[in-house]
Amino acid sequence: MRKLELHWQILIGMVIGLLFGYGMTQVEWGKEFVLDWIKPIGTIFVKLLKLIAIPLILASLIKGISDLQDISKFRTIGLRTMGIYMGTTVVAIVLGLVLVNVIQPGSGISEETIARLTETYANDSGVTSKLEEASRQKIAGPLQFLEDMVPENALAAMTNNKLMLQVIFFTIFLGISMLLVGEKKSKPLKDFFDSLNDAVLKMVDLIMLTAPVAVFALLANVVVSSSDPDLLVALLKYAGVVVLGLTLMIVFYCILVVVFTKKNPFWFLKQMSPAQLLAFSTSSSAATLPVTMERVEEHIGVDKEVSSFVLPVGATINMDGTSLYQGVAAVFISQALGFDLSLGDQLTIVLTALLASIGTAAVPGAGMVMLVIVLEAVGFPADKLAIGLALIFAVDRPLDMFRTVINVTGDATVSMVVAKSVGKLGKPKIKDWDDHLDEVS
Ligand code: ASP
Repeated sequence: MRKLELHWQILIGMVIGLLFGYGMTQVEWGKEFVLDWIKPIGTIFVKLLKLIAIPLILASLIKGISDLQDISKFRTIGLRTMGIYMGTTVVAIVLGLVLVNVIQPGSGISEETIARLTETYANDSGVTSKLEEASRQKIAGPLQFLEDMVPENALAAMTNNKLMLQVIFFTIFLGISMLLVGEKKSKPLKDFFDSLNDAVLKMVDLIMLTAPVAVFALLANVVVSSSDPDLLVALLKYAGVVVLGLTLMIVFYCILVVVFTKKNPFWFLKQMSPAQLLAFSTSSSAATLPVTMERVEEHIGVDKEVSSFVLPVGATINMDGTSLYQGVAAVFISQALGFDLSLGDQLTIVLTALLASIGTAAVPGAGMVMLVIVLEAVGFPADKLAIGLALIFAVDRPLDMFRTVINVTGDATVSMVVAKSVGKLGKPKIKDWDDHLDEVS
């Protein structure tokens, strides 16, 4: 019998997780059971993915750079990547703003609903912790992000997943220096990292064997931890606008794929689907990164010279889904609370959401922290911030799941477009987890 394709296995795991989670909300002991016995399975899976992120970035980026015959190519790849990343993010924000201004989801929301949401969430630790984190982020000066990108201790940077950009900086520096010392001298290091790269990609294959069970656990946990369904219904129009915008972004990526790479967009989506489903289940582009890299390189055929740079950088600084959501959420909150936004304010949203996308961490819920900064940039009254966040908190997790899918798909699209433009989009070269199993068993 033919084995079911991975994305179907994952999808089935997700559906069973949703149903099981729903079933567990119907019995008194259900939530506790899921938290004690099911959630850890999902947590372990996410930890395993995060565990290999730094070694994978290190090994694959060094391999990528040292395979480049010519350093000037790296500059071309770098500049194109940054340019396209900014372009797609601006498209996402503008799209979000157009939809929210046309559909006006905030205007119809009743005083009563606002009061109920405020009462439930304004003092909730979820909302207050986001406000606190936003105020910590704010103190930074304009060049702080450059300062933050340069590590003072390479090993310390490698011990913290939040310092991914520092690891990328160190790795590029090392890779370029390896090119400059010449092939003979750099060979031992290159061989070492090549071999590390293959081994870590094999770890991705092995971890993915457990993905169907892990997504079951992750989704069951999301369902038992979710908010009161009544509150979710009140926010349906707002959530609908965000999801509509995110869906249109997928269409936009498909157009980019057709126009710039001449590949079939459905084939692209199918190859990326396991990474997209994981992005949905984990709400973290950082945790999904190893799988995104594996899919883009092995299943789509983007050369490591491009993917090893474009994808880790994208996971940290390119978040189209998050930016679109920030634009919609900022205007929705303003509409609901009667705070007028001028055209100039909306342009400020475009700019700050673009910067926020760079500063947002690739972990669950980070987009909401940066939303505070977007709201402050348009002069939203500080004493109403907690109420504003309370309005959207109930649907934040499901929207986070959707926007993370877009964040990951956007990175993959850009890697394909950049690869094609520098002649580095080849044929897929799929490796299975058991390719060499005979030799060791
Ligand atoms: N969870 C998102 C990500 O990891 C970030 C966010 O929008 O909260 O890409």
